[in-house]
Amino acid sequence: MTMRTSSNRVHSKIDSKCDVAIIGAGPAGSTCACLLAKKGFNVTVFDKKVFPRQKVCAGLITWKTADLIKRIFNISFEELCKRQIIKNSCRDYRVFYLKKEIGRGILDFPFHFVDRPSYDSLWMQHALSAGAQIHTGMGIKAIEPEKKTVVTDTGRHIKAKIIIGADGALSTVRKVMQKTGIEKQKWRKQLAMTIEIRQQCTENTLCPQFSSLHFGFVPWGYAWSFPGKSTHILGICSIPHKNKEPFKAGFEKFLKASGYYDYADTPRKGHPLPYGNFISTPSQNGIFLVGDACGLADPLLGEGIYYAHLSAQLAAHAIGQARPDYGRAEVFYNKMIRKKILREFKRIRLYRDLLFFDGRYRRYKGLRFFLRLFPKRLEAAIQGTGSFSNLLFPIH
Ligand SMILES: Cc1cc2nc3c(=O)[nH]c(=O)nc-3n(C[C@H](O)[C@H](O)[C@H](O)COP(=O)(O)OP(=O)(O)OC[C@H]3O[C@@H](n4cnc5c(N)ncnc54)[C@H](O)[C@@H]3O)c2cc1C
Repeated sequence: MTMRTSSNRVHSKIDSKCDVAIIGAGPAGSTCACLLAKKGFNVTVFDKKVFPRQKVCAGLITWKTADLIKRIFNISFEELCKRQIIKNSCRDYRVFYLKKEIGRGILDFPFHFVDRPSYDSLWMQHALSAGAQIHTGMGIKAIEPEKKTVVTDTGRHIKAKIIIGADGALSTVRKVMQKTGIEKQKWRKQLAMTIEIRQQCTENTLCPQFSSLHFGFVPWGYAWSFPGKSTHILGICSIPHKNKEPFKAGFEKFLKASGYYDYADTPRKGHPLPYGNFISTPSQNGIFLVGDACGLADPLLGEGIYYAHLSAQLAAHAIGQARPDYGRAEVFYNKMIRKKILREFKRIRLYRDLLFFDGRYRRYKGLRFFLRLFPKRLEAAIQGTGSFSNLLFPIH
């Protein structure tokens, strides 16, 4: 199997044409490419990075992600384990407010932790096998929406019937769609910043065998510690717009309070994370946004891998069903995103706002109370076997 990589030739006019140009080959871009190529579309994907590439991400996948992957790619989680893509699985979890444990439990379905470079490369291989052309190491520097043309950083012009922005939280495609300053401001207001470190587990490092979430070190955000067989992942996220306190200091405080004294020299990495700034009209004028590019990470935990696959599946479905009337595909996609994702995100954002508002003034007493009374409801909502709409008033 060959992967077509970038050429350095500079072109000025239209250099090639395709049905669908996809910008970004993360989980969203590769899923969309695979599904559309299988439907017979001529698909070209561009990614500025050469794969396998690193992505700042804790790699946690929940039950709903494993279930969706099985349905889209027919790959079970056992297969992902066999291929060493799932690096670790864990059922034990704990929740802390500063140093105090406020909840713990054993999950019915474990959390799985994937290695993002090999996870993302796997879906790219699926897109290639389905017939998509993939250009890695080739970034897109501009979009000409009225001409339906994408311009690569080497100056090539590619004309497409449909352009899909799967280019992550700092999406170039989204910037073309968000024309007014108000839209950009709205996006920035709920964009979280993150810091993450990966520490090799040795005999001398403290590597717990449970997942934990830590509240109270930053307002409007939380810290996490995820176990690994060889690597321990720790991170923090917070919305800078709402957080007047130094964010990096909050992370160092978390490390010290949790006993990770040896982590001072471990390199810190950061990346923006959509955190409640989802776009409610992700498709306009032949452009479709999927995954992080349209803000689809959940507003409480920041889980985005599932929503990257799901939004890509919805986009491919809408485009396939409406072919060749792509105007109808836009209406269909916008409707499905609102129904299948944003309805739940609005609930999650409401609970999140209550949690952080309450946490600030009442030391997360509400969360403590809830974890004691209804832990299984919260677990089900996070894993996707239940919903946040059933958190307070469950439907049996
Ligand atoms: C610190 C941190 C921890 C996280 N932990 C988790 C977790 O545990 N579980 C979870 O579910 N989610 C997690 N997420 C969120 C998750 O990483 C994202 O939601 C997910 O990667 C989104 O997939 P995507 O395909 O939309 O975008 P991405 O995976 O970001 O892929 C976008 C691709 O577009 C390419 N690209 C960007 N710009 C251009 C351009 N101009 N031209 C060409 N290519 C371009 C990039 O190279 C990249 O390959 C975390 C995020 C962060 C920041």
